[in-house]
Amino acid sequence: MILLDGKALAATIHKELKVSVQQLHERGIEPHIALLLVGDNPASLSYVRSKSRACEQVGIRSTVLQVSADTSREDVLDIVRQWNDDPAVHGILVQLPLPPHIAAEEIIEAIDPRKDVDGFHPVNVGRLVLGLPTLVPCTPAGIVELLRRYDLSVHGKHVVVVGRSTIVGKPVANLLIQKARWADAVVTICHSAADDLFRYTRSADVLIVAVGRAEMITGEHVREGVIVIDVGINRIDDPSTPKGYRIVGDVEFASVAPKASAITPVPGGVGPMTIAMLLHNTITAAEGTAWQKPLFP
Ligand code: NDP
Repeated sequence: MILLDGKALAATIHKELKVSVQQLHERGIEPHIALLLVGDNPASLSYVRSKSRACEQVGIRSTVLQVSADTSREDVLDIVRQWNDDPAVHGILVQLPLPPHIAAEEIIEAIDPRKDVDGFHPVNVGRLVLGLPTLVPCTPAGIVELLRRYDLSVHGKHVVVVGRSTIVGKPVANLLIQKARWADAVVTICHSAADDLFRYTRSADVLIVAVGRAEMITGEHVREGVIVIDVGINRIDDPSTPKGYRIVGDVEFASVAPKASAITPVPGGVGPMTIAMLLHNTITAAEGTAWQKPLFP
């Protein structure tokens, strides 16, 4: 069984990205991402901090703006528009979720699509579906990169994706059905209305799980030799740990790993790859090649 070590792989990618940043510096460009956090949700704050820290580590400048949860929709739109108009800002990321009075769709649509380093703007989503060069959402891009770098081909394989969110499930499915060397999979997407999840998961050569339910997928759900990508990040109480909780995935590692030919750990699997792809997207935006580079060379 291969443990798909996203943490180690992300560290390798960070080294490669440092070289790209250096090349940009030599051209007089300082790659710069602006991150907006509305409110003080602790999980969001921690995500924003780790994204910002990772940027700084590879030489990308990061500006974090935190505003209060009662900031108006208009004020949030103004911040985004200012960053759109600022040539020194190459990437814009608005941390989700937003407070209930602000519609995420409207804010995302206001971001200049060429600065949309999360890849959530409808124009970038459309380009992805069409197979055109674009800024690919970071988690799906991280999954593809992980599979590619471990030389795990999905060509002609049955990939089952559990979860149809717009940030993970749908875009990863859209990537893997591309007619391309690194894709060409046959993809099934499952969601909460699936009447018999086992029927689908047991037929998977590659199982990608992005549900947000701790250890929902067990050994019973999978067949021998499956490749498992666990996207979930769930906090469960554990009084035996110093923090009183631990992080687990959507997959029950103990029962699934013995049957799998390869599996991502949580933490240390998809999470670090997601951040690596955010850095990649920011550099691509700073290079001005977001709509020129092929999806994956
Ligand atoms: P969402 O809540 O947006 O989507 C969850 C999906 O799971 C929905 O499509 C839902 O179906 C489906 N689902 C829920 N219950 C079932 C079920 N019993 N059977 C089948 N499908 C089900 O989640 P996200 O995609 O945003 O995130 C999923 C997980 O991944 C979370 O734990 C999140 O924290 C983590 N995550 C990790 C990232 C990383 O970098 N590692 C990045 C992003 C997310 P329906 O549409 O019908 O409601």
